[in-house]
Amino acid sequence: MYTKTVYQSVPEDSVIRLQKVNKWYGEFHVLKDIDLEVKKGEKIVICGPSGSGKSTMIRCINHLEAHQRGQIKVAGTELTEDLKNIELVRREVGMCFQHFNLFPHLTVLQNCTLAPIWVKKMPQQEAEALAMEYLKRVRIADQAHKFPGQLSGGQQQRVAIARSLTMQPQVMLFDEPTSALDPEMVREVLDVMVELAAEGMTMLCVTHEMGFAREVADRVIFMDAGEIIEENAPEAFFSHPQFDRTQAFLQQII
Ligand code: ADP
Ligand code: MG
Repeated sequence: MYTKTVYQSVPEDSVIRLQKVNKWYGEFHVLKDIDLEVKKGEKIVICGPSGSGKSTMIRCINHLEAHQRGQIKVAGTELTEDLKNIELVRREVGMCFQHFNLFPHLTVLQNCTLAPIWVKKMPQQEAEALAMEYLKRVRIADQAHKFPGQLSGGQQQRVAIARSLTMQPQVMLFDEPTSALDPEMVREVLDVMVELAAEGMTMLCVTHEMGFAREVADRVIFMDAGEIIEENAPEAFFSHPQFDRTQAFLQQII
């Protein structure tokens, strides 16, 4: 159900815009009046306690979950129940999860060429060349013909990033991409993300890697109980958190 509300027009440099987004799981109000704008090239880090709605918000942005009230616009398209719009948005949004979600029965290369071939109708050779380019970028091209199960967690996550990039999205969403990894593998994945940021990719990252946030983020957003509590540039966010809830959270994780 979409209520009739008048929204401000979306500026052209805005890749993602959420306005007064609300979502319920049954009676449970999981997202409360979320306003968020991500401009082209911006890198945003989202943090907050477990259960605060971070994954739900990220999943609403490519409609893995439906919101019930408010407006979500991605790459100029408003997300409604219209499947055509959902498809348009998903082409522009790359997503990388905590659990890599690679297809275990396909090789690394096949994992990466699947979407370009089936969604973009790209010829196989072209898709393979493109996929190899991105596999090189994440430094895993030498594993292209292996199956995911033969790789380490860090390698699998880099493949997952390459797979998303092969669709040449306008924005990348990351949902705790390093939190399921053994500590020694976290850095190799963060390095790839830092490089991607330096190349100008628009990124929205849920992560508790505060070193990454300091290094890369234009803004850090703190969520709690379904709300955005505060947001600020990293330096100010970490040195002068405005709210008790943010301070308490930061004390736990830093
Ligand atoms: P976070 O990513 O910040 O840990 P989530 O977005 O995963 O938080 O979850 C927010 C809240 O919504 C949690 O209380 C969780 O239990 C609840 N929740 C998540 N997914 C569902 C679902 N499919 N059905 C019902 N409740 C859910
Ligand atoms: Mg989550």
